[in-house]
Amino acid sequence: MSDGLHFPIRDEVSAVPSIRAHRAVQARIALAVSLVTLIALILTGFALYWASRESNSVSIERQLRTTERSIRAIVNELALQQEVVAIWDDAIVQLDKDELDFQWIDANLGIWLSKTFGQDEVYILNADDRPIYAGVDGKRVSTDAFRRVSPDIARLVKNVRESQSLSHAGHGPNARELHLTTNKAIVDAHLLELLGRPTAVSVMKIVPESDAVRVEPGREHLLVSIRFLDGSFINQISERNLIDGLRFSRLRVGASDEITVPLTSDEGGLIGYFHWKPELPGQKILSFVGPVAAATSLAIVVVMVLLVRSLRRLAAQQEMTIVELRASQAQAQHLAFHDVLTGLPNRALFDARLDEALSRTRRGEQIAVLMLDLDRFKHVNDNLGHQAGDNLIRAFAQRLLKLVRPGDTVARLGGDEFAVIQTGIRSAEDAEELCTHILAALDRPFETFGHQIFAAASIGIALAPEFGTDRVDIMRKADIALYSAKDEGRDCYRIFTAAMDEAVKVRSSIEDELRSALRSGEGLSVVYQPQFKSNGHSIVGLETLVRWKHPTRGPILPEQFIPVAEQTGLISRLGEWVLQQACMASKQWPDLFISVNVSPAQFRVQGFAERVTDIVRESGADPRKIELEITEGVLLDNAGETASTLRQLRAAGFRIALDDFGTGYSSLGYLQRFSIDKIKIDRSFVMSLGQTANAMAIVKSIVALGQAMDLTVTAEGVETEHQKSFLSTAGCNEMQGFLFSKALPLDQVARLLAA
Ligand code: C2E
Ligand code: MG
Ligand code: MG
Repeated sequence: MSDGLHFPIRDEVSAVPSIRAHRAVQARIALAVSLVTLIALILTGFALYWASRESNSVSIERQLRTTERSIRAIVNELALQQEVVAIWDDAIVQLDKDELDFQWIDANLGIWLSKTFGQDEVYILNADDRPIYAGVDGKRVSTDAFRRVSPDIARLVKNVRESQSLSHAGHGPNARELHLTTNKAIVDAHLLELLGRPTAVSVMKIVPESDAVRVEPGREHLLVSIRFLDGSFINQISERNLIDGLRFSRLRVGASDEITVPLTSDEGGLIGYFHWKPELPGQKILSFVGPVAAATSLAIVVVMVLLVRSLRRLAAQQEMTIVELRASQAQAQHLAFHDVLTGLPNRALFDARLDEALSRTRRGEQIAVLMLDLDRFKHVNDNLGHQAGDNLIRAFAQRLLKLVRPGDTVARLGGDEFAVIQTGIRSAEDAEELCTHILAALDRPFETFGHQIFAAASIGIALAPEFGTDRVDIMRKADIALYSAKDEGRDCYRIFTAAMDEAVKVRSSIEDELRSALRSGEGLSVVYQPQFKSNGHSIVGLETLVRWKHPTRGPILPEQFIPVAEQTGLISRLGEWVLQQACMASKQWPDLFISVNVSPAQFRVQGFAERVTDIVRESGADPRKIELEITEGVLLDNAGETASTLRQLRAAGFRIALDDFGTGYSSLGYLQRFSIDKIKIDRSFVMSLGQTANAMAIVKSIVALGQAMDLTVTAEGVETEHQKSFLSTAGCNEMQGFLFSKALPLDQVARLLAA
């Protein structure tokens, strides 16, 4: 079974961006964002770490230098402190006394130096280098205390004693100038190990300040100042240099978080090590900035995660939109190629499929194109409503679909028009078989709104490639076959033949020439066939019949060109022209009624009644003398409108005759429903009189019916006396036929009437 999934046009949907591409872009953005964030965080972390390390090492370097400098400086400081009291006239005077004033010495030399400068031990030696005064830890003590230190400082004492101008500190590689305030000081100062402790020792001669006091050179008193570096000195540099936990140790290894500075004596010997916990500003910065940075990083990561998430969500929404867009595009495409009512392919899709199928015929495949038309569908629509019509169309589509094979296409081209592409057929018989099935499928009625609808269809078939491989041409040929099926009584199928094409060509040339004949009036004429009273003597009326003498084909029968005029819409102009001729005749013979044939196609045109009334009025003829002959086909269409048009015409004075009575769907119901003045028994019945048994019975009953309904009954095509006598006995009111007269031109009618 054919469906709509196979589109000839497929590129539309791909215009929507693919979801995969979309996801790739999204992943790339997410990756880029994460990567940039990560790199930024790593760089920040690294910079922070580097900065803290750098500032730590700068700080350690600074502490090392200041600590070292402080340690070295202590020797100079010690000498400077001594200088304050050692170059002093009063000190010489006091020390020269036989009875030493120890209180004075305490207050101005020994204890004073301890209290003021934190010197740990102070000794004063006489000219023989023997101690005359000893102060330890800020207290005067016995001079015996000097014995503890004398061996280690003997060399300094000796140096100072023997020198007249010594002013330096240390020996060997560590020796350096002392910076003192006067040039009188004779001093030797050292960094050394004393009593197992790191110690700064300074020995200075006590010399006069002025010339008022004299001391024999080489016999001066010596001032010895000792400062242990592992005692209060440590606190002092600790405070001065803001160094935390400074301590001295003989061991090289300190705590893991300490730094170590070795201390060597002026002689180059290792005394021990200073250890302290270095101040690490980097650490501090890190401990402060670290959490902030970590929090900031965390915040950034959170923001990034949220960002990526919302990006995802946005992308998901976009994906949804894409999916919806695709769905609606697919739907739009389906709608573009399918009929809404039946879901069948529409004309556009049908055309594309037919093109495809026709291209296959070039490779040897045979196909059939079927054009279908529901017979009298308009009738269903008019009488049961459009909903019922729609239901019928839908149900018919379903039945059709069940009859075709997969690969075949069933399409609805519009209204009640369907088409089928039957593919891969072996011969015309396959197509005929399908048509037989289709017609058989319509034998069962359709149920809708409690009504049973009996439908029939006409089918035209065109075979390809036998009759061409061009779509438009094949469709045209199937259409011609369809018209031929309709012409031949509907509810049947016809296969296109070359002869049909010829007929169509003739028809179309007739159309062209009829059009120009109507424009110029050339070749067209009317003749009048007299209608007689049933006695056969007096003429009561004339029927106007159109004639056309074609410039090349010669006379063409109304049966040939009237249908063409009907199909092309020329019938209205033709009819009006004939009516004008009839009016002229009516004016000429006002005693007779003049009848005019009206086609259903002409009757159906909006405003027909007004148009006819106007023409008759304009011509000056009397409408009461004009008879309009309609056929049963008129009565079949839209009952309401037909009835009102008929009422309008009768109200204007026209008489209405029902022509060719008995050939169509004539029923008593019609005669009752519509106001009619006359029925004209069709020629076929009259012809059959005396030939078929029931013809007489039919004619008799028609006449009886007419009489019962108070209608005039006319018999057409009376050719024999026998027919005439039967009809007149049966009660026919009027007769018309070659027995009395054939249709005549105006002048001959005049002659006949005169006779
Ligand atoms: P119709 O209206 O039934 O007209 C009567 C037809 O029967 C006329 O044929 C007439 O020549 C023919 N006829 C009359 N008596 C006899 C007879 O005794 N024996 C035989 N064999 N034929 C007889 P015509 O003129 O060829 O017209 C054929 C049909 O064409 C008309 O049938 C009518 O339906 C249609 N027609 C003719 N003129 C017009 C017209 O102006 N407008 C329309 N709409 N239709 C017209
Ligand atoms: Mg007629
Ligand atoms: Mg007739």
